[in-house]
Amino acid sequence: MLTNALDYPVTYLSNIGPTKAKLLREDMGINTYGDLLQYYPTKHIDRSRFYYTHELTTDMPYVQMRGQILSFEKEGFGRKQRIVGHFSDGHGVVDLVWFNGLQYVEKSYKLLTDYVVFGKPTLFRDRFNITHPEIESAERFARTTNGLRPYYSVPEKLQKRGVNTRMVEQWVATVFRIIHDPLPETLPEYLVQELRLMSRDEAIRAMHYPQSADHLSRASFRLKFEELFFIQLNILRYSRERNRRYVGHVFARVGQLFNDFFYHHLPFELTGAQKRVIREIRQDTMTGRQMNRLLQGDVGSGKTLVALMSMLIALDNGYQACIMAPTEILAEQHLDTFRHFLGDMSVHVELLTSTVKGKRRKAIMDGLQTGEVQILVGTHAVIEENVLFRNLGFVVIDEQHRFGVAQRAKLWSKNHTPPHVLVMTATPIPRTLAMTVYGDLDVSVIDELPPGRKPIQTIHHYENRREELYRGLRQQIGLGRQAYIVYPLIKESEKMDLQNLEVGYKEFCKAFPDLHISMVHGKMKPAEKDGEMDRFVRGETQILMATTVIEVGVNVPNASVMAIMNAERFGLAQLHQLRGRVGRGADQSYCILVTSFKLSNDTRRRIQIMCETNDGFQIAEEDMRLRGPGDLEGTQQSGIPFDLHVANLARDGQVVQLARDVAKRVLDSDPDGSRSEHTQMWKTLAEMNKNNVNWSSIS
Ligand code: ADP
Ligand code: MG
Repeated sequence: MLTNALDYPVTYLSNIGPTKAKLLREDMGINTYGDLLQYYPTKHIDRSRFYYTHELTTDMPYVQMRGQILSFEKEGFGRKQRIVGHFSDGHGVVDLVWFNGLQYVEKSYKLLTDYVVFGKPTLFRDRFNITHPEIESAERFARTTNGLRPYYSVPEKLQKRGVNTRMVEQWVATVFRIIHDPLPETLPEYLVQELRLMSRDEAIRAMHYPQSADHLSRASFRLKFEELFFIQLNILRYSRERNRRYVGHVFARVGQLFNDFFYHHLPFELTGAQKRVIREIRQDTMTGRQMNRLLQGDVGSGKTLVALMSMLIALDNGYQACIMAPTEILAEQHLDTFRHFLGDMSVHVELLTSTVKGKRRKAIMDGLQTGEVQILVGTHAVIEENVLFRNLGFVVIDEQHRFGVAQRAKLWSKNHTPPHVLVMTATPIPRTLAMTVYGDLDVSVIDELPPGRKPIQTIHHYENRREELYRGLRQQIGLGRQAYIVYPLIKESEKMDLQNLEVGYKEFCKAFPDLHISMVHGKMKPAEKDGEMDRFVRGETQILMATTVIEVGVNVPNASVMAIMNAERFGLAQLHQLRGRVGRGADQSYCILVTSFKLSNDTRRRIQIMCETNDGFQIAEEDMRLRGPGDLEGTQQSGIPFDLHVANLARDGQVVQLARDVAKRVLDSDPDGSRSEHTQMWKTLAEMNKNNVNWSSIS
């Protein structure tokens, strides 16, 4: 009966009423005793060390002393009143100061009694004082504390209700007292043995009350492993199940279209990386298992071509293919690119977006059903329910982070056997994160740019160097090149952001009266926007000024300058994406990051990274380090709960790898989940899934 105490609501604890309980639930995620035990301290404070009053210096973050209060004194008047306790350890005197709760202080602390006092010392006049110290009787302290003392972070709303780290500590201690039985083990015993893990019971206790720093780190390792192990187990089990359930279309051969394209139409050598990826896709699609592959490749690495050639393999085997892009502009560009590449080959490619209407739409829909349309290019319009294919075998999703899980899942229902899926992204995701977010996808990487590209030079300018920027632009445009000027746009300050762009546009028009300048932003009518964009693409305008609408896609190899205004307001991934719009031709390209003078440390670091490297993967790693994995583009719709208790995907890469390897082994050894030593493990997983509806739909 007592084991169920873990499920008791926290309101059973003294001094937690309905209001606190609500805040605990909403702001700390704590409902039950069990949740409380898993609310781990953010740090531990070494309470084994005592200082003497005469040792204090002004740079100590906190100190702990043992002594007695000699006397109390009230100082000041009315609301400014404070109470001062003169505290001595026999070596000197320190003042303890309280600004409120005066009566409480006088009532609670006795004179000439041994206390342990803890807090930050500050020097006032010629004496050290500690404001609102933590005080405990020396007797109680000796009873409860040995060395490391947990420190729990408490959200502000709860602090206002008087909750502090000490109170959380007391709740936790109470729960541990009530629960006599060891906390249940969730991992199979043989794994605990083999990996020399701490038992779950010991680990959870040690997280709160470790015997030493080493004890704490072993406890946290055990819990990190457990957490990541179950995530991996879930992902892998799900993908195996899917593999078992669905057979894939078999693309048995490389045929006429692929070969014709490869030998007669391909305008350049494929890079080694492109060849490798095409081989990987080819191997996947031959086997009869359904492919789910993530293709990561930096902007400009030539993913589109890989997509096209894979689609030709599908066509060669009698299937249709489709590619879905996040915006209309991008979809249109894909269409142009495909038609251009395919030249006079007889491949029927069509474009379907929400602006394709009426007869035209009907004709395309009919063509899809008869199989006459072989490749469909489009936006989400292609996954609408009424779009029916005769025999869809291969789907490419470009810039996948713009699509939610549900949208991806819809694709699968487009054929009785789900099509092979290739997900492409230019926002590289660090490996450890990919293993979690896309854990069930196979990953291909294009880590090589087409030859002849010069790395983009990135330069940081403060905003007062506008003349210099103009000079640089004039010089590049003099050479026949074009330039992008990008302004940030976020919803919250949309009006002002648009204004910035418009003001900027006027300034540039004044600075370059002889040039043609396009302006594009999200508030323009689509036709107008496309018109402006087209003028730039065709080279009629030399400068394109825009808000971030040009972030994805747009391919104008002649553009050699990307100036990003207010660069401090962009994230790393975004800056990298934007920069990828230039450097597409053989000439030297430049990216100018324009910022104000006042930069936070993080921002300075972002700008510095951008100036140092063009490597998207390195940038992704840094981005994850700066922002944490939950905020990265591409992770939000993943359904993975990023508020992991102990593990941190940015820092615990090795544990992720270990957890994955072990999970694989466990699944191999127990394909139908019948081994008795795994019973508890499966039960735990089922429990977790019950609380996390999204999990099973990661695709
Ligand atoms: P991504 O979609 O990966 O950002 P793209 O597929 O748009 O990149 O390719 C960028 C440019 O490089 C395109 O103009 C494309 O035609 C060109 N390209 C692709 N592969 C090669 C190659 N092997 N050699 C030379 N140019 C290439
Ligand atoms: Mg692309």
